[in-house]
Amino acid sequence: MIQLSITNPATGTHIADVPADDAASVAAKAATARAAQAAWAERPMAERQACIVRFRAAIVAQLDALASVMTSETGKPIAMSRNELNGFLGRIDFFLEQAGGSVATEQVFDDGGMREQIEHTPLGVVANISAWNYPWFVGGNVFVPALLTGNAVLYKPSEFATLTGLEIGRLLQEAGVPKDVFIVLVGDGAVGAALIEQDIDGMFFTGSHATGARIAQAMGPRLVKLQLELGGKDPTYVCDDADPKAAAASLADGAMYNTGQSCCSVERIYVHEKIHDAFVEAFMATVRGFKVGDPKSDDTYIGAITRAPQLEVFDAQVRDAKAKGARLLCGGERLPGPGNWYAPTVFTGVNHTMDLMRDESFGPLIGIQKVSGDDEAVALMNDTRYGLTAGVFTPDETRARGLLSRVRAGSVYWNCCDRVSPRLPWSGYGDSGVGLTLSTYGIQTFTRPKAWHLRKA
Ligand code: NAD
Repeated sequence: MIQLSITNPATGTHIADVPADDAASVAAKAATARAAQAAWAERPMAERQACIVRFRAAIVAQLDALASVMTSETGKPIAMSRNELNGFLGRIDFFLEQAGGSVATEQVFDDGGMREQIEHTPLGVVANISAWNYPWFVGGNVFVPALLTGNAVLYKPSEFATLTGLEIGRLLQEAGVPKDVFIVLVGDGAVGAALIEQDIDGMFFTGSHATGARIAQAMGPRLVKLQLELGGKDPTYVCDDADPKAAAASLADGAMYNTGQSCCSVERIYVHEKIHDAFVEAFMATVRGFKVGDPKSDDTYIGAITRAPQLEVFDAQVRDAKAKGARLLCGGERLPGPGNWYAPTVFTGVNHTMDLMRDESFGPLIGIQKVSGDDEAVALMNDTRYGLTAGVFTPDETRARGLLSRVRAGSVYWNCCDRVSPRLPWSGYGDSGVGLTLSTYGIQTFTRPKAWHLRKA
């Protein structure tokens, strides 16, 4: 059997070998899920909810150990691993509260003779191909509501978060989800590609635009529901009336949290020329305070870079920005190993000819660009192929609403950033994807509406 080798990105040491799937085992697992799904869907919602309640309790009981597993394979600072798990509990609570109501049959017409109803039936077997950067969040946005609404799930964690994926499988099974209803597939992109070939009713993918586009192309003729949650190049504009210190503290965190490896990291900052210098000074003061180091330490803020090839992307963006005249204020280089490390990197004097302002960095790099006013800022924010999130800092809500209504982004932020709420839909424009997760829409998305026309004889 093929083995998947797992390495700790902070130390470069080998942690484990895990038996991986191949095309034949993927096909067998898909057939198993197909056979098991109907019985799961027939169980009352309350029984499925009870399984997720037990799953939640197990996460609470084992939170420190689960956080350590995630940190060991991704290099995420341990405090952020705990934050993710605690945040995930809140998402579970939302899904538990809302699942019943969101998919209850709706009576939409009744004239005494004819009744019309909408029934929300499960899609069936859904594939969940996931990213490594927030494995509990991005996986759970799919598998929790999918299971609650009666689907079977074929879950392919990222090859960089496999141990966490296996823990999720173990905990769901111990909580009472049948082993054939939630099945973990282990492996890299080849296993994901094999999943596309199977008899599935939905493909829910989170990852890069490049992979998402490949999946969309392969899925096209299948006519199967497809959702893609992809990357971003998320901008924020700091207006001339904003408090530069408060905005800088918030945006430095938004750019560097999780070592900048977040789909909704702040990736571009535009600052009004009147407060640009004060903002940059405060921003640098915050960044200089970020502790880079051992992800296992409680006070580490910047951890390891999970995927080694991403270091080459950073090097290339830094070279390009320098060559085109940007001013490097800190970082701009790899840090000594073992493991994958990059210094927090801040540029000013950037513009849109530079890759740093156009292509997703997905790391602790940020460009700060001076702008002359609101119209220039909006034009620059929209000058992107992505559209996941965007933000504005100003004390004036009317001004913020006016600006953000002109920006093409799935989520918009006033005086905040890098934020996801289970109560709000998570979606993107352009190359940031199609479809959505979270909110009650992100529960209904795992169902198919069936139209009932009922006339009494
Ligand atoms: P990735 O595209 O490299 O991999 C994602 C998943 O796809 C992995 O499980 C991988 O094994 C699988 N895969 C790779 N090739 C495949 C193929 N040909 N067919 C099927 N599956 C295949 O992305 P990543 O490095 O894991 O994640 C980082 C990216 O994800 C960033 O661009 C980030 O912005 C994005 N992301 C988006 C969101 C969101 O909600 N929009 C959330 C988290 C991450």
